[in-house]
Amino acid sequence: MRPAVLRLKRGHDRPRSHPWIFKGDVADVSDVVPGTVVTVLDSAARFAGRGIFNPKPALCCRILTRVDEPLDRAFYLRRIGEAIARRRRSPVLAGAIRDPRIASRRAAETATGDAGAERIVWSEADGLPGLVVDRYGAVLVVQCLTLGMAEARAVIIDAVRSHLGTLPVFASDDPTAAALEGFQPVRGWIGAAGPERLTVHEGRVRLQVTLGGGHKTGLYLDQAENRRRIGSIAAGRAMLDAFSYTAGFACHALGGGATAALCIESGPDALAGARANLAMNGIADRAEVRAGNVFDELRSLERDRRRFGVVVLDPPPFARSRGALEAAARGYKEINLRAMRLLEPGGVLATFSCSHHVSDALFAEVCREAAVDAGVTLRVLETLTQAADHPVLLTVPETKYLKGLLLEAL
Ligand code: SAH
Repeated sequence: MRPAVLRLKRGHDRPRSHPWIFKGDVADVSDVVPGTVVTVLDSAARFAGRGIFNPKPALCCRILTRVDEPLDRAFYLRRIGEAIARRRRSPVLAGAIRDPRIASRRAAETATGDAGAERIVWSEADGLPGLVVDRYGAVLVVQCLTLGMAEARAVIIDAVRSHLGTLPVFASDDPTAAALEGFQPVRGWIGAAGPERLTVHEGRVRLQVTLGGGHKTGLYLDQAENRRRIGSIAAGRAMLDAFSYTAGFACHALGGGATAALCIESGPDALAGARANLAMNGIADRAEVRAGNVFDELRSLERDRRRFGVVVLDPPPFARSRGALEAAARGYKEINLRAMRLLEPGGVLATFSCSHHVSDALFAEVCREAAVDAGVTLRVLETLTQAADHPVLLTVPETKYLKGLLLEAL
């Protein structure tokens, strides 16, 4: 059976280079079962690609291929194989630009297979919109974010396993995405069960992962390289890990010789995870884990005239929509301003925003305003971004979302 056809409106050419088609881009679409394949034609009826259609969300179709080919088992096998091959080549390539020491260490760990964690498939950036596959040691975590990917789950799991071996697979769908797309999110083992709690290595640090319980698919893998970076500059300094989640940054800092670490986090499970990670790494004696709201705690640290040699600010996305930008900018400014005031001379602030809607320029502007108001002069040591296994596509700017600055107080 020929796939259904979706025709784009005249002047709506973005889908020729970008995988997203919104309802407003569509001139007409034939009767199609939600979650199945459509052939996309431009307004002149030329082939523009093939994607999966879902009439429920405003983003109704994501293009998977620009070649006239079926989206079948062989397609997924090849695409997933390419994503894996890219990563086997790229830790050195991509990472070397930022920090060769980290890149070579990371490449060595990936090569030994082992107990490391990595993102294997990242949605649009790997030509598989709506699919995330992570490896935590010898366990695979599959997250379907679209109806189309949820329907293809069995084929996808088969494909990943034929490349990486028959590892246990845990499904970790995101309920918000599932509601938007109209499918039942799956959380749990697909087939034979593996260990629900596991320990992965991230350089010299070991981190616990509770499948199905934590944020993301278990860890914030996008920050893996930045955590190591902090580990490499923290020796002899007191560090503050604000929005710590399970204390990944603090573990790296203490592992790298920090004299003390204070973790601030509001989530009870994250707090328990932070305590467990610090204990497991044998560094709990130098750490304090504080349950609280970072906004309040920063103020109280300022009142107490506390100073730190390293501060990490890794908040959740403050701007979940474009409309929330202004309030988000205020929030970012507030925490940055207060964090800057806690830096000792020569102290370093690693500050991040993972809000898709906050541009590099806006983030830099907010940090600039914060520095002015804080009365602190800061040197930009580095700009930071997401780990290399979360690649960025030039034509899909949404794939770059994690922005960071490493700033030194003069
Ligand atoms: N740095 C972490 C990831 C941080 S994600 C890592 O590398 O693993 C952001 C964290 O901030 C989440 O764990 C969330 O629970 C926490 N959080 C959100 N709002 C908060 C607030 N106002 N005060 C304290 N923690 C908060």
